[in-house]
Amino acid sequence: MPPEFRLYNTMTRSVEPFAPADGETVRIYSCGPTVYNPAHLGNFRTFLFVDLLRRAIALRGWNVRQVMNLTDVDDKIIKRAHEQRKTIRQVTEPVTEVFHRDREYLRIQRAEAYPKATDYIPQMIALVQTLMDRGVAYLADDKSVYFAIDRFPKYGKLSRLDTREIKTGARVAQDDYSKENAQDFALWKAATPNDEVTGAAWDSPWGRGRPGWHLECSAMAIDLQGETLDIHCGGIDLIFPHHEDEIAQSEAATGQTFARFWCHGAFLLTEGAKMAKRLGNVTTVKGMREAKISAAAVRHFVFNTHYRKELNLSEEALEASMNAVRRVGDFAERLATAPGGTPELATAADAAMAEVEAALFDDLNAPNALGALFTFIHKANAELDRKGSDAAALERAREVLSRINGVLDIVPDRTVDDPELVEWVEDRLAARRAARERRDFAEADRIRQELVDRGVAIEDGPGGTKWKKVR
Ligand code: AMP
Ligand code: ZN
Repeated sequence: MPPEFRLYNTMTRSVEPFAPADGETVRIYSCGPTVYNPAHLGNFRTFLFVDLLRRAIALRGWNVRQVMNLTDVDDKIIKRAHEQRKTIRQVTEPVTEVFHRDREYLRIQRAEAYPKATDYIPQMIALVQTLMDRGVAYLADDKSVYFAIDRFPKYGKLSRLDTREIKTGARVAQDDYSKENAQDFALWKAATPNDEVTGAAWDSPWGRGRPGWHLECSAMAIDLQGETLDIHCGGIDLIFPHHEDEIAQSEAATGQTFARFWCHGAFLLTEGAKMAKRLGNVTTVKGMREAKISAAAVRHFVFNTHYRKELNLSEEALEASMNAVRRVGDFAERLATAPGGTPELATAADAAMAEVEAALFDDLNAPNALGALFTFIHKANAELDRKGSDAAALERAREVLSRINGVLDIVPDRTVDDPELVEWVEDRLAARRAARERRDFAEADRIRQELVDRGVAIEDGPGGTKWKKVR
């Protein structure tokens, strides 16, 4: 029996045992990016938390079906499109491409579906109609449709809004607003001239208009995952109003619990990091790539702090992560090429696997999982020094590293992470081979030194020359 899987549920403010409702497949809905600007590293901290969640669930042996929406119509996008004299589509399409490129760079697994809000307008209209029929929504004199929060007695249960703060009758039309303004919110907004020119207006029973941001997620989640999700997740800033409003719309329409678990990731604080000197602009994935910070290092940096704790972006921490993953990479290489192990190597591997599972299944405690991994690396390196010949033990160690890495994904990939270096090293190794062939050993030694100066160690063996980056 695997250890119990536990998750913090924002709804109850406590860590609870979790299992999928059907015992097999975990249905996740995670709020995705608003595609008007490339996502920053803060957004990606949240997406990495969801990646960790889905991989931990897979390690536990359940299937995952994750839906992540792409918000491609909202106030911010329309404003941007209007400023640039573009349609919302012209704004969102290139940004969506960048999102997927950045996501792949960070090794964030693909969700099973990435629905775009603009592809679900009929479902959204139907949801608004249901809410009208149930008497919890009304058409106001501004031709927009609002949700009447005082008709939904559970309003505020996720964000623990004090009912005295709820203003009945007052209305808010914008997508994002503060707790102090808990008011009737817009489900369907009457089209403005800007909406029309930017291609953000559709026909509806209430006239031309467009969906409110909160409505998008309710309609897509219900359409693609059914009335009750196993887990709904996003960044902590979405608890209010976004998730509170999603609950109101969904539950008032279906009468079912919208999500069994609500999981929220804490913020990445990037203050000061924009001016980072040594590592360049590290607040975007583009900046990270340019500064040659590998996905492995970013993942280590993010996972080294529990997802419910705030995390500060700093060069020191990033550099420490770059060093840490180098150690993991060296170890992976050593395991791959070692001739054999010792029985103690297998014992250490078993212990590491058990500790990593216990940590990850305990509300995704990735920092503890990393701790267990590094303890294993330390012990295993000592065992490999003893040059044993136990093939099964070696195999077990490889398998454990691969399973752990299947969740954390922090083994750096030399060829992907630094293609320039790889090209240069290969060119230098070819020149060295040529020098040795013509017996110019002085030149061959000079090239070896050139490699060493760039932190590359080489090892001549029967199968040719192997190299690795040592710093
Ligand atoms: P947005 O594109 O603004 O809709 O945000 C996409 C996701 O990123 C949401 O789940 C937000 O909660 C999350 N998010 C925004 N800023 C940060 C941050 N600084 N740290 C962590 N998550 C964030
Ligand atoms: Zn959402």
